[in-house]
Amino acid sequence: MVKVVKFGGSSLASAEQFRKVGDIIRADAKRRYVVPSAPGKRHKNDTKVTDMLYSCYALAEAGDEENMKPALRKIRARYNEIMNGLKLKMTLDDEFKIIEENFRKKAGIDYAASRGEYLNGIIMANYLGFDFIDAAEVIRFDRNGDFDAETTNQILRERLKKSERAVIPGFYGAKENGAVVTFSRGGSDITGSIVAKACKADLYENWTDVSGFLIADPRIIKDPKGIKVITYKELRELSYMGATVLHEDAIFPVRKEGIPINIKNTNAPEDHGTYIVESTCQKPEYTITGIAGKKGFVAVNIEKDMMNSEIGFGRKVLAAFEENDISFEHTPSGIDTFTVFVHQEEFEGKEQSVLSALHRLAEPDSIDLEADLALIAVVGRGMKSTRGTAGRIFSALAHANVNVKMIDQGSSELNIIIGVHNDDFENAIKAIYDIFVETQL
Ligand code: ASP
Repeated sequence: MVKVVKFGGSSLASAEQFRKVGDIIRADAKRRYVVPSAPGKRHKNDTKVTDMLYSCYALAEAGDEENMKPALRKIRARYNEIMNGLKLKMTLDDEFKIIEENFRKKAGIDYAASRGEYLNGIIMANYLGFDFIDAAEVIRFDRNGDFDAETTNQILRERLKKSERAVIPGFYGAKENGAVVTFSRGGSDITGSIVAKACKADLYENWTDVSGFLIADPRIIKDPKGIKVITYKELRELSYMGATVLHEDAIFPVRKEGIPINIKNTNAPEDHGTYIVESTCQKPEYTITGIAGKKGFVAVNIEKDMMNSEIGFGRKVLAAFEENDISFEHTPSGIDTFTVFVHQEEFEGKEQSVLSALHRLAEPDSIDLEADLALIAVVGRGMKSTRGTAGRIFSALAHANVNVKMIDQGSSELNIIIGVHNDDFENAIKAIYDIFVETQL
C-alpha cells in the first residue's frame, strides 16, 4: 500500500512545522512519496517564500542588483532558519550561487518561483533520509507550456519504481529542453495528484492547516460543521463557487484512477479531515453536503414576443456573448424571456458592445440589466433521494426575508443554484445552513 503525502506552505513554514511533518510521515511507513510546497507564512503578516521569489526576480529583471541581493539574502535566511532549527548538517550555499547567477541571466519568472519548492524539497529529503527527485526531470510540459499528462506519467512511473521513498517538490516541472514551467498558484496540490496517479497510490493525503472542507464559509457561519466525505462531482460544484482548500485542477489526475484524497490538518493530525471520493454509498450526514457562493453577477434579461417558437434564438443570444469573449454562468428562461448570468467584472467594460450585438443578432423587443447579484450553490448527493429539498430552501429564504431572483436545478439533482441580491448573500447562506444543519430538517 502506498500513500502520497503533500504538505502545504504553512505546514512547512518553520523548523517546528517541519518536525510535525516528520512525525506524521514517520508514523506511517506507507507514506512513501512526499510532495512539499515552499515555506509559507509563519504568522499572519509574514510573506510566503514564493512571493519573495517573485519580487526578488522582478528586481533582477529590472537590473536592480543593489536591491536584488538583499532580497535573495532574506529568502536564504528563511531556509537557514529551518535547517538550523532542524540541526541539519547541510548547506544550500552552492544552490544559492546557481540561483543568483540564473536570476542575473534572467532565467524566467517560472524558474524563479519554482526555487521555493525545489530548495524545500532538498531540505525535506535530507531531513527524512529520502531520495530527492527534481520535478524538472519528471513533470513534463509541452512546447506551448501546457502540462503533458501522458509523458509525465510514463517518466514519473519509471522513476518512482527506482525509489522506495522519495521527495518530489511541488508546483513545477519542465519542458523537454529543460525550461522550468510552474502550474498556477497553489499548484503543488496538482503535483501531489500527479504523483499519486503515477505510483497508483491507494490514498493521496493533502496536509494543510485546516481539518478539511467546511459545510459553509466560516466568515459567514460561525464554527460551521466539517464535511467528512464528499464526491469529486460535489467538490467541483463547490470549488467552482469559491470553496478553496484544494487547487481545482488537483482532482483530475486522481479522479480518473479512483484514488481518494484525504484533506488533513498538520496541526491536528488526529482529526478525520475530509475524504474526497469517486462515489460512496455512505449516507451523507445532512441532506446537503455544502453551500458556497459568489457575489458580483449581472443578469441580462432579454424579452421578445414569440421567442419560444423562434428556432435558434438561444444560439443568437449566446453568440453575442461569445463575440465579446464573455463566458456565461446560467441561462434561465421563460416563454418570452431569456436571461443570461455573467460575471459583472467581465461584463462591465464590454456592456454596450454586448447590447448592440444582441440587438443585431437576436432582434429582441427589450433588454434589461440587473447588476449586483450573487449566486449560491446548495450542493449535495443526498438531495436526489430526499423530497422537498427545494421547498425547504425557499421557505427558509422566505423566513429570512430574502428575495429569490433566480433558481436553477441541474438535471443531476446534485445542486440547486439560487440567485439573490448581493446584500442578501450572507443572510441567505445563514438561512440555508440553519435549516439543514442546525435544525437538521
Ligand atoms: N508555492 C506555490 C504558491 O505559493 C505553490 C503551492 O504552494 O502550492 O502558490
